[in-house]
Amino acid sequence: MNSATKLIANEAKSIVQAHLDRLGVPQEHQMSQQEKLDKFAQIKAELEKQDAVLVAHYYCDPEVQELAELTGGCVSDSLEMARFGRDHSASTLVVAGVKFMGETSKILSPDKTVLMPTLEATCSLDLGCPVDEFTAFCDAHPDHTVVVYANTSAAVKARADWVVTSSCAVEIIEHLDSLGEKIIWAPDQHLGRYIQSKTGAEMLLWDGACIVHEEFRSRGIVNMKALYPDAAVLVHPESPMSVVEIADAVGSTSQLIKAAQTLPHQRLIVATDRGIFYKMQQAVPDKILIEAPTAGEGATCRSCAHCPWMAMNELDGILHVLQHKDQEVHVDPVLAERAKLPLDRMLNFSAGLKR
Ligand code: SF4
Repeated sequence: MNSATKLIANEAKSIVQAHLDRLGVPQEHQMSQQEKLDKFAQIKAELEKQDAVLVAHYYCDPEVQELAELTGGCVSDSLEMARFGRDHSASTLVVAGVKFMGETSKILSPDKTVLMPTLEATCSLDLGCPVDEFTAFCDAHPDHTVVVYANTSAAVKARADWVVTSSCAVEIIEHLDSLGEKIIWAPDQHLGRYIQSKTGAEMLLWDGACIVHEEFRSRGIVNMKALYPDAAVLVHPESPMSVVEIADAVGSTSQLIKAAQTLPHQRLIVATDRGIFYKMQQAVPDKILIEAPTAGEGATCRSCAHCPWMAMNELDGILHVLQHKDQEVHVDPVLAERAKLPLDRMLNFSAGLKR
C-alpha cells in the first residue's frame, strides 16, 4: 500500500453482514414468456396512466432492463440514470436500482415523485459508511477535500465536497490532485486504491467494499484464462487490485460495454455483476461473454456475481408501487439541498468531459 493511503477502521463489515443475514439467500424467480408479456402490458399501461418513466440500472435482472427499454425509459449506470431522470419530462420516476439511486434522483428532481419497487434494496457501500462515523472522521481532517462515491446515503453526500461515479472518478481526482488537494475518499477501498494508482493523489481511504466485486479472485480468472487464452478480461474497479492488475480493460459499467465493442477479442471474461450481460450482449451480439469466477459457491454464496439488493427489483414490485405508491423516496429538503451541491459539481464536471 502506498504510504499516502490509509485505511480507516470502521464497522462496515459487521453492519453489512447483519443486513445480509436478514436478507437470506436470494431466490431465483422463473416466469413464462406469456406471464412476462402480460406483466409488461400491465406495467406499461400503469406507467402511461401515472405519467411515469422507468429508470433501471445495468445490474437489474434482464426482464426489468427489457421493460425499461420497451417503455421509453433508460438502462444505464448511476450517473446516466441521474441525468436521465432529471431531464425527462415525466412527473414520476420509477427507479429500479438501490436506495442511493432513488435518493439521488429525488435530490436532482425534488418536484418529481420518485418511487422504487422496494425501499429495502440497498448497497454494502452505503451501509458501510454511517454518516456519524464518517462525519467525525472528516471533522478530524479539516484540511482534506471530501470525495464520496455515488454509492452513499444522502446524508454522507451532504457532508462531501464532491460526489463521483466510477465513470468520472479518475478525472475528478486527477483534477483535485492538480490543485494540490489532499483527499478523503469513501467508501469503496478498492476503487479508491485503483484511482490512487492511476493518479498518484494523496488519499485517505475508507474501508468499505462492494460484496459483489470483492468476491472476484485473480486465481480463478487466471485459471479461466488458461482455458480460454484468446479471451480478454474486463474488470470493474470495485474489484480487488490483484484482479484489476490482470485486466485488459478496467472501467465503469458503461466503459466496460464500450471496451467489449472496441477490443478485438471474440471472447470476454467479465468481472462485474452479471446483470450487465443483457446490455453488453446487445452491444456485441457475436461475441462470447463469460462470467468471471467468484470466491462464493452454491448455497454459501451471497453474491455470486449478482447483487442481492439489485435482484430485489422485480416486475411485481414495479407494478405494485405504481398502483399503491407505498415505496416513495423522501429526502429531507435541507439535506437534499446540501447534497445537491457536490452532485451538481460532478454533473457539471462530467458534462465538460463529454464536450
Ligand atoms: S453491486 Fe455492489 S456497489 Fe452495486 S449496489 Fe450491489 S453492493 Fe452496491
